[in-house]
Amino acid sequence: MSQNIRVRFAPSPTGPLHIGGVRTALYNYLFAKANGGKFLLRIEDTDQTRFVNGAEDYIEEALSWCGIKIDEGVKEGGALGPYKQSHRSELYASAVACLLDKGMAYRAFDTPEELNALRKDAESKKQVFQYDASTRGNCRNEFSMSSEELVQQLESGAPYVIRFKTPETPENVVFNDEIRGEISISSAIVDDKVLMKMDGLPTYHLANVVDDHHMKISHVIRGEEWLPSAPLHILLYRGFGWAPPKFAHLPLILKPEGNGKLSKRDGDEGGFPVFPIEWKDPKTGNISAGYRENGYSPEAFINMLLMLGWNPGDEREKFTMEEAAAAFSLDRIVKSGARFSPDKAKWFNELYLREKPHSELAQELYKLAPSKGVELSKKDALSIVNMMIERVSFIGDIFNAKWLFSTPSKEDFAIKMIKKKWKEETASHMSDLSGVLANIEVFSADTIEAEFKAFLESRELGFGQVLLPFRIALTGAGGGPSMFEFAEFLGKEKTLERLESGVKNALEIKVELST
Ligand code: GLU
Repeated sequence: MSQNIRVRFAPSPTGPLHIGGVRTALYNYLFAKANGGKFLLRIEDTDQTRFVNGAEDYIEEALSWCGIKIDEGVKEGGALGPYKQSHRSELYASAVACLLDKGMAYRAFDTPEELNALRKDAESKKQVFQYDASTRGNCRNEFSMSSEELVQQLESGAPYVIRFKTPETPENVVFNDEIRGEISISSAIVDDKVLMKMDGLPTYHLANVVDDHHMKISHVIRGEEWLPSAPLHILLYRGFGWAPPKFAHLPLILKPEGNGKLSKRDGDEGGFPVFPIEWKDPKTGNISAGYRENGYSPEAFINMLLMLGWNPGDEREKFTMEEAAAAFSLDRIVKSGARFSPDKAKWFNELYLREKPHSELAQELYKLAPSKGVELSKKDALSIVNMMIERVSFIGDIFNAKWLFSTPSKEDFAIKMIKKKWKEETASHMSDLSGVLANIEVFSADTIEAEFKAFLESRELGFGQVLLPFRIALTGAGGGPSMFEFAEFLGKEKTLERLESGVKNALEIKVELST
C-alpha cells in the first residue's frame, strides 16, 4: 500500500497555528513517513473574510521549526498542484457544474435576511431551521420557483448560492473511521450545505472534497471537530461518483483541568504558549507567546505533542522524529481527549536539554548572553553550563541566577535566608574560612572541598553551619550549584572578594532586621 499513501495538512491561513493544528500536521507527517507515503501542505484560503496577513508564512515557518518536511506544497510544488485553493477555482466550478447537471445541487436565491426570518420563525415554534428536503420547498430556489421565474432571476443577475441536495429519504451514512471504528450518522442531520457562495468561491466542504480527490489523498487525518461533516463529505463523494478516502478523526487536546478544548485563554491564564512559535497579530500588534521563543527545543515540543493522543503501547515516552516515524500507527491514537500538561511539556524539554552536548549548550548560552545584557566569554559559558544545566528546564533560565555573572549587591540578597541561617558566630567562621581559602595554592574544586572539610573537622563544625552561609555570601541566594565548583569558577581572588563583601552585606541586613 505504501506507494499510494498520500496525506495532507490543510490549514486555513486565518491566524497562528494552535498546537492542536501542529499535532494534526505531525500525525499526518508521521503516518506518511511510517508508510513511505507523501505529506502535502494545502492552504485552504477560500474564505476571504477570514484571511489574515502573514498567517501562511507563519504556518510554513512553524512546520519547518518542528522538522515537519513538506513533500508537496505551495513552495515545494508537486504534480497535483496548485496547492492553494484560491488558485484552483476552475476545478471547483467544473465540479459544481457536474453536480448541477446530475441534479445533486441547486441554485438558491434566499437573501441572508430571508434566511434569518426563517430561523426566527422556527425559533418562535421552538424548532431549529434546517435547509433540507423538508424545508427547501418553502425557500427561494430552483425547486420552489417556476422555470420562468428561475430564468428571470438568472437573467437579472440575482445573486445565488449553490447548495447540495441532501437525500429526500433519510438514510444512515456509514463509514469506517481508522481511530473510532464504524460510524453511522443519519443523513437527516445533514443540511443542504452551501457548496458555492454568492461570490463564486467554494465553501470548505466542496473545495476540501474536490481537492482531496484530485490530489489523490488516501487518508484524511483531521481534528474531531470535522467528524460531523464526514457524512456530508461521503454524500458528496457519492454524488461525484468518486471513491472516498479513509478517514481518521483525532481527539481534542483538552485543558490542563481536563474539561473542554485547550484555548489561547488557558495558555494566557496558565502562563504557557498554545502556539508553536511567537505570533504578532498584524492588526493589533499583540504578541502571543510561542514554544520556540520560550526556549523549548523543537525535539521536545514535537515529542510532547506526539504523546498527546498517541502511545506506542508500552512505557516508552521519548521519541525522536525518526523513532516516532518508525513506531507510528493510527490504531494507537486514543479516542478520548488528551489532557495538556504544562509540566509535562517542561519535563520533555529537560529530557532533551540534559542530553545535549555541553559544548553545544555553551554555544547557545554564549549567543543568548547579549540579549540578556550579560557579557560572557566562551570559556565561562562552558563552565556555567557544566555547573547549572542539571538545575534548569531551559537554557535561558540560567540567566535568572544573576550572581553567576556579577557580584550580588545587597538588594539581591535573600533576606529570608539570612534571617534563618546567619547566626552570631557566622561572620567569624567566614573570616576563618577566608584565611583557609587564601592559603590554597591550586584553587580547584577538589582542593577547595578537601580544605573546607578539614577546616570543619578542626573546628568541629557541621557542613550546614558553614556551607550555606558561604553560599549566601558568594551568591546572595540559598540554592545553586556545588559551591566548590563555583568557587573554582570564580577563582581565588574573586571568591575572597565576594566572601568579604557578602559578609558585610549579610551583617548590615542582620542589623537592619533587628532594628
Ligand atoms: N481548512 C480546514 C481547517 O482549517 C481543514 C480541515 C480538514 O483537514 O479537512 O481545519
